Amino acid sequence: MKSQQLCELLLKISEKIEKNKQYLTELDAEIGDADHGINMARGFAQIKADCASYSELSCGEILTSAGKTLIRVVAGSSGPLYGSMFKQLGKAVGENELTYSGFIDGFGKGIEKIMALGGAKEGEKTMLDAMCPALAALSAEDDVKIGFESAVNAAEKATENTKNYIATKGRASYVGERSIGHIDPGAQSFSIILRTVYEFIK
Ligand code: ADP
Ligand code: MG
Repeated sequence: MKSQQLCELLLKISEKIEKNKQYLTELDAEIGDADHGINMARGFAQIKADCASYSELSCGEILTSAGKTLIRVVAGSSGPLYGSMFKQLGKAVGENELTYSGFIDGFGKGIEKIMALGGAKEGEKTMLDAMCPALAALSAEDDVKIGFESAVNAAEKATENTKNYIATKGRASYVGERSIGHIDPGAQSFSIILRTVYEFIK
C-alpha cells in the first residue's frame, strides 16, 4: 500500500469512528465514563484534518504522525494506547511501502507496547482482547485478504466475548463484577477499525 491509499484508508476509518461515536460512548457509559466514542472521534477527526498534509510523507511517517495526534488530542487512556500502536506501526514500516508482513510486525510490537504501558494482558476486558486474537489470525495466514478476514472474525468474536470478563484494568475496573454482561468499548472500537481495513483491502 502506498501513501495515498493509506490516507484514503485513514479517512474511511475516521468516517466509521464518527458513525459509531454514540454507540462507543454508550458502551463506555455502562462500565466507564461515557467518553470512548467522543475521545476516538476527536482523535480521528484531527487525523482526517491532517490527511491534507500527509501527501508528501512515507507510509511510516503518516502512521507515526497519526499516532502522535492520537496521543496529543485524545483525552482518555485510549489515546496513548492507540497512539502507541500507530507509532509502532510507523516505526516498523519506516520508509517502505506498507506491506502485510510489515503490518504484522508493527502490530505485534504495538500490542507489546500497549501491554507495557497499561500493564494489562489478554482476558482483562480491554482492547487487547480483540487485538491479540487478531494478531494470531494474521500471523497464521500468508494471504492478506484471507488473513484480514479471519482476523476481523476473530476480533469481533473476542469483542462479544468481553461481556463475560470482569474488568481488572482501566476505568472499568472500578465497577468490578458489574462490568460482566457489557462489551468493552476499546475492544469494540478496535474491531470497527479492523473491519474497515478489511473492507478497504478486500
Ligand atoms: P478512559 O478509560 O480514560 O475514559 P476511553 O474511554 O477512551 O478512556 O477508553 C477506554 C478503553 O481503553 C477501554 O474500553 C479499554 O479497551 C482501553 N483500556 C483502558 N485501560 C487499558 C489498559 N490498561 N490496557 C489496555 N487497554 C486499556
Ligand atoms: Mg472512558
